[in-house]
Amino acid sequence: MKFEKLNLPLEGNRIEVEDGQLRVPADPIIPFIEGDGIGPDIWAAARRVLDAAVAKAYGPKRRVHWFEIYAGGKARDRYGEWLPHDTLEAVRHYMVAIKGPLTTPIGGGYRSLNVTLRQELNLYACIRPVRYFEGVPSPVKRPDLVDLIIFRENTEDVYAGIEWREGTEKCRKVIEFLNREMGCSIPADAAIGVKTMSARASKQLVRKAIRFAIERKKPSVTLVHKGNIMKYTEGAFKEWGYQVAKEEFPEYTLTEEEAGKLGDAAPKSKVIVKDRIADSTFQQILVRPSEYSVLATPNLNGDYLSDAAAAQVGGLGIAPGANVGDTTAVFEATHGTAPAYAGQDKVNPGSLILSGAMMFEYMGWLEAADLVVEGMQDAIKGRRVTYDLARQMEGAVTVKCSEFADAIIARIRDSN
Ligand code: NAD
Repeated sequence: MKFEKLNLPLEGNRIEVEDGQLRVPADPIIPFIEGDGIGPDIWAAARRVLDAAVAKAYGPKRRVHWFEIYAGGKARDRYGEWLPHDTLEAVRHYMVAIKGPLTTPIGGGYRSLNVTLRQELNLYACIRPVRYFEGVPSPVKRPDLVDLIIFRENTEDVYAGIEWREGTEKCRKVIEFLNREMGCSIPADAAIGVKTMSARASKQLVRKAIRFAIERKKPSVTLVHKGNIMKYTEGAFKEWGYQVAKEEFPEYTLTEEEAGKLGDAAPKSKVIVKDRIADSTFQQILVRPSEYSVLATPNLNGDYLSDAAAAQVGGLGIAPGANVGDTTAVFEATHGTAPAYAGQDKVNPGSLILSGAMMFEYMGWLEAADLVVEGMQDAIKGRRVTYDLARQMEGAVTVKCSEFADAIIARIRDSN
C-alpha cells in the first residue's frame, strides 16, 4: 500500500478479514487521528492507557503499532485539505482506526468531516454503549440500572443532506411539484428537507444490533421509531426490523408478543425483539432503564437518544462510541473539540479511552478491554478526577488529563 504523505510504522501487520471475520495479528497496525482542539491532549493520555492495558494483559506477546493519519486542522496544514485521500485509504486498508474529535470546517464544502468519513467508508452503524461508572455524578436516582448499547443508523434519514433553502429556485421547483403532482399544500415560503430511509440500510443496522445481542447474550433489542406519525419511513423501520429478526435469526429471537404468549415457558436464552415509539423511549430509559438493553434506531432518534442516555450516567466526557460498517470500524470520542481547553492538559480523556476499550473488544482483545474499563472504574472511585467530574463529586481532587491517565495506568499495573 502506497500513501502520498504518510509514514508507515516500521513494524506491525494489517488486520485482515476472512469469511467476514476479523483476523487480528499479535502486532496490528492501527491508524489514529489525533483530532483538533483537545484531541492531542486526550489522545496522548488514551494511547498510554491502551498500551499499558495490552502490556499488562499479554506481556510481550501482543503490541499495537500506532500509525498516525490526518484529518481536520493537521491535515489542512499537511495536505491543504481537511480529509485527504490518504486518510480514507488508510482506514479502508487497515480497517480498524481510532480518532479524536474534529473541528467542523466553516466553508470548504464539508457538511461535517465526521459525516463525510461515515459516508465515504459506509460506516453505517453508530454504536454507543451507555453504562454507569460508580462514583460518577448523575442527575438520576439509579444510574446503576442503565446499561444500554445504542445502534444508530448513520447514513440516511434527515442526515442525508437533501434539503433546499427557502426562496431558492430549486426549493420553489420542489414545492411546485409536490403541490401540483402529489396533492400537497406546502406554503410557498417553506424550506424543504427530505427524509429517506431504505430497507437495505435499516435492515443492515438492525441485523448488526441483533447479531451483537446474540453474541453478547443481551436480553433484548428494542426498535425505536416514530412510526405512529411517519408511517412509511419510521414505521417501515420497525417492520423491516421485525422481518430481519424473523427471517434471519428465528432460532435466536422471539418477539415480545410471542414471549408474552409463552409466559414462563418462554426460553430465557432467546433475545426478545420489541419496539417502542421514540418519545416513549425517552421516558422509559429514565423511569425503567433496566428493561432496556440494545436499542436500534434511525439516525435522528438515535442522535438525541445517545446524548440523553449518556447524560443519565455522567455526560459526554466519558461516553465512548464507534462508527462501524461491515468490516471497517472507526472508534471515537463522542464529544467535540472543546477549543477553549485545547493544549491545557485539563479535560477528561475518558471518552476516548473507553472508545479504545470498545476497539479492543471489537478486535477480540477482551482481557485488555476489561483492564481499561476496570482501571477507569477504580480511578473514578479513587476520586482523583478531571475538573468536569471533580466539580460535581464531593471530596474529589481535580487532576490533569495526563494525571487521570496515570491513575488509570497505575490501577491497570496493580491489578491481579
Ligand atoms: P464540545 O463537545 O466540544 O463541547 C461541549 C461542552 O463539553 C463544552 O463545555 C466542553 O468544554 C465540554 N467538553 C467536551 N469534551 C470534554 C471533555 N473531554 N472533558 C471535559 N469537558 C468536555 O461541543 P461543541 O462546543 O458543540 O463543538 C466544538 C467543535 O467540535 C465544533 O467544531 C464541532 O463541530 C466539533 N464536534 C466534533 C465532534 C466529533 O468530532 N465527533 C462531535 C461534536 C462536535
